[in-house]
Amino acid sequence: METQTLATNTARRLTAAVKAAAGALADGQPVALPTETVYGLAADALRPDAVVHIYEAKERPLFDPLIVHLPSRDWLDRVANIPDGSRAIVEALMARFWPGPLTLVLPRRSIVPDIVTSGLETVAVRMSAHPVFRAVIEHFGLPLAAPSANRFGRISPTTVEHVQSELEGRIPLIVDGGPTEHGVESTILKIEGGELQMLRAGPVTPEDLGGVFHALCEARNYRPTETEVAYFFERLGVSFSAMLRGESSVSVEAPGQLASHYAPQTPLRLIAPGVSVLIYDQENEVPARLGSLAFQEPSTAAEFVCEEILSPAGDLREAAATLFAKMRRLDEAGLDMILAEQVPERGLGIAIMDRLRKAAAQHV
Ligand code: AMP
Ligand code: MG
Repeated sequence: METQTLATNTARRLTAAVKAAAGALADGQPVALPTETVYGLAADALRPDAVVHIYEAKERPLFDPLIVHLPSRDWLDRVANIPDGSRAIVEALMARFWPGPLTLVLPRRSIVPDIVTSGLETVAVRMSAHPVFRAVIEHFGLPLAAPSANRFGRISPTTVEHVQSELEGRIPLIVDGGPTEHGVESTILKIEGGELQMLRAGPVTPEDLGGVFHALCEARNYRPTETEVAYFFERLGVSFSAMLRGESSVSVEAPGQLASHYAPQTPLRLIAPGVSVLIYDQENEVPARLGSLAFQEPSTAAEFVCEEILSPAGDLREAAATLFAKMRRLDEAGLDMILAEQVPERGLGIAIMDRLRKAAAQHV
């Protein structure tokens, strides 16, 4: 299959690309589109014969459910069956974070095919803020199933070149929207009985969600006790007391995700900043070819043949935005091992550490 890549960097190209993408989607074809998190591989979410192409192109196992992107807010109640007890929190989260990088897991309605939810009784929904994605989905007019546009088990694509190297020859169309803004996948929140559980850390941080919790209490003239606040964060998988002390705040691993999800092919090991490491190639007894993925300053842990720094300014947003591109570059450098330095585990650092741990788990 020949894969066409369409640019969107002029008004005329954007119009042509949107039309071509909506046409291919209406034909039941899969199309790679930019979102504000990573590139997605989209297909008509209501047509199993269209959605099956996503699983085929990605070689994704059928037990891994897809996220459904909505064309507008009024689609939410058509795909999800929101219990009364969850309504207020859903409305508050939508008002604050949609369109944006937040996915909500809610009870589904039967309009959503089994192949999208892997037979689960819940559906994951999101509304993208990316102008190109929005133009396409508004033109198309129906929900799109769109997981990340990489082959299963590999690093999510944050540039059009990544998508091409993952899916060239497997899908008919890729729409180029430039590098993505956030660079890590959306935050996934499960809402059950009015309570939130963070299934995946992402650009919307526990601190951001805490802001919504406090605003909801304030709107009801209610002052939550410290125990209630602590319970809220613990449900998110974040230790409230550690957060108050300004320490690493993740108390549990986000559940519901395969451990080896964001993996480079090169073994990756996590190291604490400031330590020295000496690793030998066991067969040839020579120092291994090491690559470094450091946070702010060049790593002094070992001799490196290849180095990447996530953010010289120490900005976690910048670090997240370039994480996957730098991991990919190191992965393609023919190294024996990548040593990745831990980043501060607060705000977006929680999502970055989650992805680094998963990359490291692949090779244990
Ligand atoms: P991706 O878009 O490639 O990051 O993959 C979507 C991810 O969303 C899946 O791997 C699941 O972990 C998660 N997901 C989708 N639907 C559900 C659901 N109904 N319940 C829990 N997690 C879900
Ligand atoms: Mg993915």
